[in-house]
Formats: sequence, C-alpha cells, structure tokens
Amino acid sequence: MAKYSFYNTTRWRKLRQFVIDRAGGICEVCHVEKGTIADHIEEVTDDNVNDPNIVWNPENLQAVCQDCHNRKHHGNGGAVVDGLMFDSEGNLIVIDDSDLITLANQSVSTPPLQTLKR
Ligand SMILES: [Zn+2]
Repeated sequence: MAKYSFYNTTRWRKLRQFVIDRAGGICEVCHVEKGTIADHIEEVTDDNVNDPNIVWNPENLQAVCQDCHNRKHHGNGGAVVDGLMFDSEGNLIVIDDSDLITLANQSVSTPPLQTLKR
C-alpha cells in the first residue's frame, strides 16, 4: 500500500487521522476491531492517483482494521500484514523489507515467504 508517494506526506497523515477519528477509531466495515487504516473506498490506481476527488476526498475514505483491509485487497481472511502480498500463484511475498519488524509480533500462516526485490 506504500505504492504511491502521497502516503508519505504530512497531508496524508492528517487526512488519515481525520478519517480514523471520524469513525471513532472503530473499523467501519466490521464495527468490531480498531480502525487503524484509512482505506480508499474507490481504490487508488495509476489512472486516478492525480485525481483529488479520489485520493484526498474524505468521502472516499473509511477507517478499517487490518483484517478487513486485507480481506478487501487480498481476498484473504487476514493472513497478510502490511508489506506482504500474495503473488499470482498464492505465495506470500514480501514487498517492503522495512515492514519485516512488525512480523515478529504477528503470526503469519504459510505459504512460505519469498523476497521480491523492487
Ligand atoms: Zn474490520
């Protein structure tokens, strides 16, 4: 999800916090877990990343928990965390080495890891 540079801006961090605060810190999908991720309802793509009505529109954002975010983007019940994704063959791959530290505290089930350089 760190594919686009706007995620690294202060403006995004403020918007993200706004979205999470607006939701009362609760996931807006399952209404159970903590909503810690500001998720674009209409997903950001290479085609619309420069469209402020997609990227910066609070109405296009919802607070979601890690599980619901994974479910939406990977079609999987929360077995992946930030920095991991499934490749076309269903193998779990690391897409950002800097996130590996967070894995130490999370149990990630098989399939086995393989590193993808970018
Ligand atoms: Zn949720």
